Amino acid sequence: MFPLGHVGIALGVAFALVRILKKSPDPKMFIVIVGVAAVLPDLIDKPIGLLYGFQGGGRLVAHTLLFSVIVMAVSLVAWRVATRRELAISFLPLLFTLAVWIHLLLDLMWEVPEVLLWPAYGLGFPTGEFSWGHLTASPYAMAGEVVGAIILVYLALLLFLGRFNVEGPEGGT
Ligand SMILES: [Zn+2]
Repeated sequence: MFPLGHVGIALGVAFALVRILKKSPDPKMFIVIVGVAAVLPDLIDKPIGLLYGFQGGGRLVAHTLLFSVIVMAVSLVAWRVATRRELAISFLPLLFTLAVWIHLLLDLMWEVPEVLLWPAYGLGFPTGEFSWGHLTASPYAMAGEVVGAIILVYLALLLFLGRFNVEGPEGGT
């Protein structure tokens, strides 16, 4: 999967959740937190993959269940602290975790159990062809990019029209 698909689809799911839960986050905070989390596994693993000779095709530690569980634990602590202090951003750590999980889902990580369940199969990662993806060769990746782009345009329109939040950014937590 590619950046547009990752960022667009994660933002779309998180936005739908925000609407369902009737939250009104600051749009910029929402976009930055969900957007960064949506590509976090690639931001961590691609540079490591490049440094270590394209090991694992660029899917390493940050594409494991272990990593996502650690992210979830940290997010839960941040959520508890923010909620106790009644910060308006209190639920954003939960969206951060959600976006990381969506990344692993979109990467179809269950197809690579040696990485997903690391280190259950040993400490090494399977060597694979490193790639930034084969966009034109993969209908799945293409579809993901198109869906992601459509969602991004939709959210940008909402922002532009001032309709990102139903009751406005001050609407509470
Ligand atoms: Zn990835």
